[in-house]
Amino acid sequence: MDRRKFLKVSSIFGATPLFAKNDNRLFFKFPKKPFEYYHLKSKNSKFKVMLIGGIHGNEMGAYKAADLLINSDIEKGELLIIPRSNFTSILADVRGYNGDMNRKFAYISKKDPDYHYVELLKSAILEYRPDVLISMHDGYGFSIRNKRAWGQSVVIDELRYKNFNLFSEANFVKNHANIYLPYKLGLINTKTFTSHIHDEQKKALTGWCLEHGIKAFCIEASKQLPTLSEKVKTHLTMLREFFKLYDVKIKDMDEMIKNPKKFMDDSTPVVELKINSRIYKYRADKKIKVPKGSEIVIKSINGPRGSFAVPIGVNLNWTSFHARYLTIGIKNDFEKKFKIKIRS
Ligand SMILES: [Zn+2]
Repeated sequence: MDRRKFLKVSSIFGATPLFAKNDNRLFFKFPKKPFEYYHLKSKNSKFKVMLIGGIHGNEMGAYKAADLLINSDIEKGELLIIPRSNFTSILADVRGYNGDMNRKFAYISKKDPDYHYVELLKSAILEYRPDVLISMHDGYGFSIRNKRAWGQSVVIDELRYKNFNLFSEANFVKNHANIYLPYKLGLINTKTFTSHIHDEQKKALTGWCLEHGIKAFCIEASKQLPTLSEKVKTHLTMLREFFKLYDVKIKDMDEMIKNPKKFMDDSTPVVELKINSRIYKYRADKKIKVPKGSEIVIKSINGPRGSFAVPIGVNLNWTSFHARYLTIGIKNDFEKKFKIKIRS
């Protein structure tokens, strides 16, 4: 645990994960963050394609693009989509709330708050054994203009890895996607296994996949694209080219690329709180006063995928704690929807 964060929380709220009887403070219980995966399968599928979004929480183009495909009709092929691999970081809108998750695939401590999610992700990959895995990111800048930037690129760990010709597929995707993209893509080879320039990539998801015999690529939109729609479009345009290679056909894919906003659900979630033994529903800002020592449980959050409740100013890894007062933020991924302020 980040000690600084803990101290800050204790001094402001007197919050503690321990349960004490006859405590005058309020007791809060939040749901565990879900790890969701979605399987889309048509009647005729030759290849299995796996899409991983949200390893980095502040890369919204990546996880929103992965999420968008979940509602689509698949006419050919097969997809397994994990849009929000690191939901805690998505809700915090930071790269890694508990450190960089994309450095934890070779080794992760059991005490790491990300442990559960990294292990779920690894076992999903090993059980599904896709023909190809695509790790989706929004990188900094524009790779064709700046050698050190990762934004707008297809990234490979090596030109070739064992019997995988990574370069030829990545180059096909880059060249064909560039026909449609206003911000052109570059191709980055990190030479993960043949040089020491990017040793850290051995700990990343794609490096781990290759070492486990799974072909993997990384695709990056740019964080500096002007709008979320532009980022989503970049991802979907790259995926459309990968889908050609792996015989996947999505109904309305072109329409989705043209106007991703039309396919996004922006509705406000409804949250159900159980305060002591009664259930209350909220769908907009609210201030509530409760008796001392009350127990407040977040029972459900009903809204578009990515909707969740977060305790503001409290460690997001905690699921239960005491506090004298609390503001609960209702969010859809990075986006704040409304707040419930609770005090006794
Ligand atoms: Zn990233």
